[in-house]
Amino acid sequence: MAAELRYPIADPPAPGEVRALAAGVHWVRLPLPGALRHINVWLIEDGAGWALIDTGMDLPAVREAWQGPLALYLGGRPVTRILCTHHHPDHSGLAAWHASRHAARVWMSAAEERLLRFFVDPGSSPENARWRIDAFARDGLLETEELRSALAGVNFRGVVSGMPAHIEPLADGDVLDFGGERWVAHRVGGHTDAQIVFHAPDHGLLISGDQVLPRISSNIGIYPERADRDPITSYLASFDRLGRLEPEPLVLPSHGDVFEGLAARLAELRTHHAATLERVVGFAREPTSARELADRLFRRPLDSMNLVLALGESLANLEHLARTGVLEVLESPGEPRRFRRAA
Ligand SMILES: [Zn+2]
Repeated sequence: MAAELRYPIADPPAPGEVRALAAGVHWVRLPLPGALRHINVWLIEDGAGWALIDTGMDLPAVREAWQGPLALYLGGRPVTRILCTHHHPDHSGLAAWHASRHAARVWMSAAEERLLRFFVDPGSSPENARWRIDAFARDGLLETEELRSALAGVNFRGVVSGMPAHIEPLADGDVLDFGGERWVAHRVGGHTDAQIVFHAPDHGLLISGDQVLPRISSNIGIYPERADRDPITSYLASFDRLGRLEPEPLVLPSHGDVFEGLAARLAELRTHHAATLERVVGFAREPTSARELADRLFRRPLDSMNLVLALGESLANLEHLARTGVLEVLESPGEPRRFRRAA
C-alpha cells in the first residue's frame, strides 16, 4: 500500500524555509524539538496580505525564523488572518504573538479554543494538573514527581505565547475566501475534539493538520479535559468524509512531506487501527488496565509526557472495545479500572 503514496515535491523546505505550491499556497517548515523535528505551516495569499494556517511552537528558533528569512519572504505584506487547525502548541503556540505583531485576528473552532484556554490560563493550571493526575490514576498511572512536573502546565505555557485576546469561531462547513480562492472548513474528530482541516475544491488541495499524516499515525487518545470519550469512532468517521473529497486532493500534512494518495493512506490507517484493536482484544483475555496495556502496546521506556500519550491511546482502544460490547469494565475499590473480554 505504501507504494501508492507519492511525494511530488522533490525538495521539501528545510526548517525555516518556504516553498511555493499551487493556488497561492506556500509551504513553510518550522523547527520542532523531539522525534517529529519539524512542523509544516501554510501561508496563503489573501488579497494584499497573507493568511497563516498554524503558527509553530513558541520557541526562540521559531520566532527567529519568522523574524528573519520568513519576514523577507512575506515581503512587507501583512498577515491578515491566523487560523489554527487545533489547540496543540506546535499549531497554536505563536497565534497570540502573530496576532499582536500584525493586528490580525485568530480563528479556531470553539471546542479547540476551550482546550487551549484549559492549558494556557495560568490561574487554573494547578487545579487542572491535580484533576488530570487524579483522572489518570483511575487508569493505573502512578503519581510521581516527574509526572507532576510534566503536567503542571509549565510545559504547555512555556511553548505557547499566551491566549489570543480575541478568537473568531471556525465551524464545520465554513467557506473561506483567500484572495478569491474558495476553501471549505471540515471539522474532524479523533486526534482532538474539533480539529479543522481546509479543503480547496477548485485546486484539489487538503490542509490536513494532524488528522492524516503520511508516515506516522496520529495520537488518538482519551484525555480528561476532552469531551470525546470514543475518539477512535470519531477518527474513523472522519475518513469516510475525507475519502469522499473529489477529485482526490494533494495532501498538505502538518508533519512529513506533501503527498498524493489520500485513499491509500486512509486504507493503511484503517488497517493499523484494526490491527491494534485486535491486539488489545488478545491482551484483554486477562483483565488489563490502560496503564498495563500501555506497556504491552508501546514496548519501550517512556518519559512521563509520552507515558500520558500512551495511556491516552491505550484507554481509547479499551473504551472503544467496551462501547462495542467486546470488552467489559471491571471496577473494584482501590484498584484501577480493568477491561476484560466479555463472556
Ligand atoms: Zn496535534
